[in-house]
Amino acid sequence: MTANIPTHPPIADLADRIARAQAATQEVGANALLITPGPDLRYLTGYDAVPLERLTCLILRAEGDPVMMVPRLELEAAKASPLGELGMIIAFWDEVDDPYRRVARMLPDRGWVGLDNHMWAQKVLHFRDAMPEVTQGLAGVVLEGLRMRKSADEVAALRRAGSAIDSVHERVPQWLRAGRTEREVARDIAEAILEVGHARVDFVIVASGPNGASPHHEVSERVIEAGDPVVVDIGGTMPDGYCSDETRTYAVGSAPAEFVEYYAVLQAAQEAACQHVKPGVTAESIDAVARSIISDAGYGDLFIHRTGHGIGLETHEEPYIVAGNDEPIEAGFAFSVEPGIYQSGLHGARIEDIVVCTDDGYERVNHRPRDLIIT
Ligand code: ZN
Ligand code: ZN
Repeated sequence: MTANIPTHPPIADLADRIARAQAATQEVGANALLITPGPDLRYLTGYDAVPLERLTCLILRAEGDPVMMVPRLELEAAKASPLGELGMIIAFWDEVDDPYRRVARMLPDRGWVGLDNHMWAQKVLHFRDAMPEVTQGLAGVVLEGLRMRKSADEVAALRRAGSAIDSVHERVPQWLRAGRTEREVARDIAEAILEVGHARVDFVIVASGPNGASPHHEVSERVIEAGDPVVVDIGGTMPDGYCSDETRTYAVGSAPAEFVEYYAVLQAAQEAACQHVKPGVTAESIDAVARSIISDAGYGDLFIHRTGHGIGLETHEEPYIVAGNDEPIEAGFAFSVEPGIYQSGLHGARIEDIVVCTDDGYERVNHRPRDLIIT
């Protein structure tokens, strides 16, 4: 199903992202952004480089052309990546060189640089030694603004990821059976995540019975019992780098009455929070909508996390849907809406969809039924 999906955006889009990142770098007054392998590098250049101890780094200067610095042994891989088609200057360093000093020589020796939010501490400290008078800040200050505003192509990529993970959830009921362990069910799910077109399994949470009360429980050897509610939260990365993330809550055979009661509250909260999404509302107001419904029903203390997180080339990125984030939502913002209710020692429930803000409202990329699914 992903045979014709390119693994990187059109070259013109990449060139445009680099130009906008450079303009934003000038605007914040940084000398440069220094971007090491990871989602920011992939976003800007399409180069999906492996993070290693050797320095691979995009030097995106406020003034002048960007330069990609790579170890000599990575030179061919870099040229074969979209960097080649982008016509980017690719510099290389040999094993006996100090690549950090090479980068420092390309930049002013005062002012500040924005380091990739994901840069390894080892590299941060090497850069500090190579540029002792230069202040280090975060490149995210510049790049989050770009990455939050998804293009139509990026939204299409999230839709593909959303329908892929939908098709895994569609099959979950056949695997969720009393007598099987969480780990056995998770193994089936992980296989399916790859079968439906993901390049990588990012996480598989199968949280049955009391484990459902721990939002980030992954899997255990617990044997699933009849009457267990089971939270299944799963996601992966597609070949184009975009991530899926979807939670549904199931019940094996039947569910306890008190669970069914709060599940209905949760479903109403998730629905209302999604419906609240449109340009101009703040991130925190989406959280408040879900939280007030859950609190009014008396379960406020059991909703122990934020309502959601942005998603794109990373499963968790800006914007975070949390109290205190007064960022106004814009068309093209993509994030999860995933309230949960967790009854410690008993069970828990979460419903999660990825939602994209549109010009006049919202679109979900996940479409599996949100009612409690009895398997
Ligand atoms: Zn999730
Ligand atoms: Zn999530």
